[in-house]
Amino acid sequence: MNILVTGGAGFIGSHLCDRLIEEGHRVIAIDNFITGSPRNVAHLLDHPRFTLIESDIIERCWVDEPLDAVMNLASPASPVGYLDNPIQTMLVGSHGTYNALELARVKGARFLQASTSEVYGDPLEHPQKESYWGNVNPIGVRSVYDEAKRFAEALTMAYHRTYGLQTRIARIFNTYGPRMALNDGRVVPNFVSQAVHNQPITVYGDGSATRAFCYVSDLVDGMLRLLWSNEVMPVNLGNPNEMTILEFAKAVKAAAGPECTSEIVFYQPRPDRIADDPQRRQPDITRARQILGWTPRVPLEEGLRRTIEYFRAELQAARF
Ligand code: UDP
Repeated sequence: MNILVTGGAGFIGSHLCDRLIEEGHRVIAIDNFITGSPRNVAHLLDHPRFTLIESDIIERCWVDEPLDAVMNLASPASPVGYLDNPIQTMLVGSHGTYNALELARVKGARFLQASTSEVYGDPLEHPQKESYWGNVNPIGVRSVYDEAKRFAEALTMAYHRTYGLQTRIARIFNTYGPRMALNDGRVVPNFVSQAVHNQPITVYGDGSATRAFCYVSDLVDGMLRLLWSNEVMPVNLGNPNEMTILEFAKAVKAAAGPECTSEIVFYQPRPDRIADDPQRRQPDITRARQILGWTPRVPLEEGLRRTIEYFRAELQAARF
């Protein structure tokens, strides 16, 4: 198959490209490198079935060759990433998604939209099922991401209903693993780099907010199962293993081994960094289990071990 991945040099996009290449597909990755990095796909650049295009899908999303699938992952995805690029985030979710959908329509390709648990906002229902409409502050600082992704979902459904385009919507919950940007401000890169440097681990507020973390290889597996399924309605993809951020800090410290001397500290970040921070989040993955036969397999300890190993190597390389 010929598959286009927008955001292909990002954290999740690059793992997706790896997996598609392994499966024998031809892969074209488009990225503008605002939050992604060519380093994430450097090992693929000489591969005969891989092409990397530097381009912004807000302006243009086009390739001359035939396509079987378009996977639309282009967007800043960390709170720091989208708070620093608010207008771009809205435009890539809206105009970028429109350009990617048009490409899929013209090529007769199936289309997968990478959506997010942020469509549920600070949820009043717990755990979150796909049928929940969400609790989003439409003018808050996070709204640039939440509303852009909600718009992208709506536009994707409109293309399905108007043109019969084969569309898929993956609602991705917190995902972690190698190639997360060290400075993207999310809890995993922050805690892991703090633990690796023996610096204080910064738990925001009282650490009682909850998240559930899915290892990236599990997520990519779910996304591909969804792409090749017949399911048009959104599907949650995430690991239901919910924990408080304080518990997560302890898990990172433990995974960093006895040499880690970091203390866990409670810290007040800039108010805009935590405004509308969802207090509880946990995916209900009943639909993914039933429709896709998918369930996450990598335990947190194992995923953290691999992530810490990657961060140690990156930080070591940065020193030379
Ligand atoms: N968080 C934290 N310390 C950090 C970074 C984040 O306690 O150094 C918290 C943050 O307030 C939130 C949770 O960890 O409650 C997850 O935040 P993240 O930025 O990873 O992404 P989100 O799930 O909010 O999109």
